[in-house]
Amino acid sequence: MERVLVSACLLGEPVRYDGTAATAEHPVLERWRAEGRIISCCPEVAAGLPVPRQCVELGVELGVELGGDARARTRGDEDLTEAFLAGARTARGLCRNLGVRVAVLKERSPSCGSHWIYDGTFTGTLVRGQGLATAMLRQDGVEVFSEDQWVEAARCLECLEAPSCPSSPVIE
Ligand code: SF4
Repeated sequence: MERVLVSACLLGEPVRYDGTAATAEHPVLERWRAEGRIISCCPEVAAGLPVPRQCVELGVELGVELGGDARARTRGDEDLTEAFLAGARTARGLCRNLGVRVAVLKERSPSCGSHWIYDGTFTGTLVRGQGLATAMLRQDGVEVFSEDQWVEAARCLECLEAPSCPSSPVIE
């Protein structure tokens, strides 16, 4: 059975920077819960960052391309890039160890965003981009969706589990 990595805050865990959750409710999520498919992960907490913690934004380059010049910084200009990269590596390690190929992660987060992130100016400005954990997972071939895409994620999972799927594991 394919398992799915899901942002811990979407699962109701109060691990966001401000100590809140971002609890998601969707029939697909409920079905996956019942099927025991879900692997919970908060990359930032996994990296040892506290709850609550300072808000962090990525510069656009780092959000789009790992290895760009921009850094993950707090409003007070504290550089937390290494911690964020460590959290991303933990998420990647979980997926590698458990063979996870689909993830649903919290949009707009500097770790978990998949289509949009804040632009690093702390002005509430969104730009197209992805968080660090998302970027690492995608580099590894994991399909990453946002909490607005439960149906799309479920379709992807069904496709991966179909015997005719070119990416399906070969069963001897
Ligand atoms: Fe949620 Fe991801 Fe932020 Fe953790 S790092 S609080 S899982 S969005």
